[in-house]
Amino acid sequence: MLPDIENLLKLQEVDREIRRLQDEVADLPKRVAAIELKLAGTKTQLEKAQNAIKADDAARRKYDTNIRDLREKISKYRDQSLAVKTNEQYKALMAEIQFAEKEITAHEDKILELMVNADARDKEVKAAQAELKAETAEIEKEKEQARQRTAEDETLLAEARAKRDQFRTGIREDLLRQYERVSKFRGSGIAEVRDHKCMGCQVILRPQTYNDVLSGKDIVYCDSCQRVLYLSPKEVVIETKETVHRPKRHHPKIDAPQAWYYRPEFASDGEVFLCLTNAGGQASRRVYDIHTGRLLGDILIREGNYREAFPEDITGSTRLNGNWSEEELDEFGTELPMVILDSLNADLDAARLEAAGSHAKQAVSATATEQPASS
Ligand SMILES: [Zn+2]
Repeated sequence: MLPDIENLLKLQEVDREIRRLQDEVADLPKRVAAIELKLAGTKTQLEKAQNAIKADDAARRKYDTNIRDLREKISKYRDQSLAVKTNEQYKALMAEIQFAEKEITAHEDKILELMVNADARDKEVKAAQAELKAETAEIEKEKEQARQRTAEDETLLAEARAKRDQFRTGIREDLLRQYERVSKFRGSGIAEVRDHKCMGCQVILRPQTYNDVLSGKDIVYCDSCQRVLYLSPKEVVIETKETVHRPKRHHPKIDAPQAWYYRPEFASDGEVFLCLTNAGGQASRRVYDIHTGRLLGDILIREGNYREAFPEDITGSTRLNGNWSEEELDEFGTELPMVILDSLNADLDAARLEAAGSHAKQAVSATATEQPASS
């Protein structure tokens, strides 16, 4: 692993720790505030319960006064009844007494109701008082913990910042700038490569990019997220094993309607990729420069299928894996996209390795790499 990568990984770790500590320090007062809010809620509840008791007491006093007044009235009516002259007057007084007695009963019922309620109100007040006491104790504890934690975090932060400064001095300046710029926007500036994928953005790397990371000779950036890429030592082992026991290269079908070939020499253009396609009883041929991907010359069209139409291009060429629709080819226009060019070049490398490895000195030719359709 490159020393720069090792330092970047250490830097990323300490950067994360700094961020975590900063978040924690910022979070502690919020926690205390949340408990204080709860405490205020409990206080309000307690006041409400206490006020309800006061209101009930006042009501009860009012009923008691009313009952006393009514009793006085009744005794006055009784005194008057002794002095009445007529039956009508007597009946009227009796009715008044009856009415007052009914009112007294109603007031007594109300008082009874208040007495029953008083028990529940007492319980409410006691519960709120207990809760308030517990919460007050809790908040004092939380505040003390927050104070301690903040002090600890500040110490750790100072240590982490010192470490960060130390790691930074061990990293190339342009690399550091790139790492910090990407970190700022994406939360991390360096990403592991696993299964040919950038674990930062989950995009599959182009074969060339992957090989560059694998070679470990220089710093490589992810094409899609710009993070610095590195291969974990575990992945390097797996990859090396795969190279030794390389799985058999996939072989294109001999009768495929489209065939790609590599030719080491083509007219005066040097190395080229040929794309031969059958469509509607005609065969077309496109020629691309293998380094730039540029389309060379015109698209040639002949009668019959490409084996009959372009035999001179097939003989002595290396058959490659590749199949894109006519629309895609049209879309590529006069230049193959980088990803297509990379994939053809990677397959060419694989074909060469295979030819060199297996049948010792057998020439890399169309017949050597083509097999009848097997899958
Ligand atoms: Zn990426």
